[in-house]
Amino acid sequence: MINERVRFAPSPTGFLHLGGLRTALFNFAFCKKYSGKIILRIEDTDQSRKVDGAVTNLIESLNQCDVTFDEGPHVGGEFGPYFQSQRLDIYSTYYKKLLENNDAYIVFNDEDPNLDYRKRRYQDVKKRMIDQKFVVKLRIPRNELISFFDELRGQIEFDSNLLKDPIIIKSDGYPTYHFANVVDDHEMKISHVIRGEEWLPSCPIHVLLYKYLGWYLPKFTHLPLLLNSDKSKLSKRQGDVAVESYLKKGFLPSALINFVSLLGWHPSDDTEIFSMNEMIKNFNIEKIQKGGAVFDLEKLRWMNGVYIKKMDYSYYIKFLKKHDLSIDKKKTEIIFEIVKERSLTLLEMLEESKIFVNDLDFKNDDFKVLNSQSSQLIFKYVNDNIASVDFNSLIDIATFINQISETLEIKGKDLFFPLRLAIYGKSKGPEIPRIMEALGRDETEGRIARVLVNV
Ligand code: GLU
Repeated sequence: MINERVRFAPSPTGFLHLGGLRTALFNFAFCKKYSGKIILRIEDTDQSRKVDGAVTNLIESLNQCDVTFDEGPHVGGEFGPYFQSQRLDIYSTYYKKLLENNDAYIVFNDEDPNLDYRKRRYQDVKKRMIDQKFVVKLRIPRNELISFFDELRGQIEFDSNLLKDPIIIKSDGYPTYHFANVVDDHEMKISHVIRGEEWLPSCPIHVLLYKYLGWYLPKFTHLPLLLNSDKSKLSKRQGDVAVESYLKKGFLPSALINFVSLLGWHPSDDTEIFSMNEMIKNFNIEKIQKGGAVFDLEKLRWMNGVYIKKMDYSYYIKFLKKHDLSIDKKKTEIIFEIVKERSLTLLEMLEESKIFVNDLDFKNDDFKVLNSQSSQLIFKYVNDNIASVDFNSLIDIATFINQISETLEIKGKDLFFPLRLAIYGKSKGPEIPRIMEALGRDETEGRIARVLVNV
């Protein structure tokens, strides 16, 4: 039996990208479905692109999105080290093997890069390598078709003449991505490579390396590109792509997981809303699409709204605490019910909640409405009769509102707009009785007193 072993292999060059989260999620779902293992490997061989704190950040973002690892730099494992920069001796064994077999060759730093060194033999330059800097290049055969199988795309063939001999070891002694990636996938016994389509053009080089080193190929799946709505490749230039910033903006991890899973994949029954566990249960590589997947922010906002409506009360309490918003316990529950229906993100929820706690901030135009004769009649009526209303009963509050309407003969929005503006700061919004219930008697009374002009 093959043990499914997959890996997520980011380069620590910044924040976790939405595309990275998708790759991690698909690998995670695949491995969980088959009770395999998922490995985190840090591909940090490009020392110039390394960013401090990137690895911690990455693990934190993945953790928040419930992607955890069986092996990796933070949890250990029998195939470590899991930082490529700590595996130089392993790469060295294998590049020497390639050199010895004449599948790779040396180019020294001071040599004319336009000359052809393909015929050079390792034995002849071994001595020079001791005190001269060099790179190691892989010898790509001429006039050959390099073919491999992609689980989504089927058999793929590449004309070897279109490939240039790539550098596999740089002059600083570090391997390049291609070489380290292949050596590690083999050494770490990776059975399935699931990664973004941008790596498809590199795959023939990897396939050659496997062949030269006499290793079995893992199964390859290249995930469709993520696109902006104008079909260009999703990038920082057109908006946020960092998972962390979506979490900061108030997108719930569960919504983000659900949304990102649908970028290029869907369950067979086409359900749109599902949990990570449901995704794992339904995950299957055949349901991944080949064409690019468009990132639609509006859809993400909609989906987040769905999750906010299902959100746990305890989560809301924690969230308020984090933002130093303290609300009376009894009121919090009512406010929670109101704001979760009206918000698409946690930040919107926070702003909505603040309306019930902080002083309202009126604009000049608001005073035109608040100071009108009819509005003042309403406020006066509320002020004079509020004492008799039972604020524990939504029905009683609603009856009171009807009473205002009947007594003053002010109906519909002529009544609701100014009243809502006075106690909620906006003329449109939740039902007035619900606002009043959430505010309670004292706060409602205080807000009305504030807009009442004494004559
Ligand atoms: N280090 C590559 C990246 O940053 C990994 C690509 C692969 O999975 O082979 O995406």
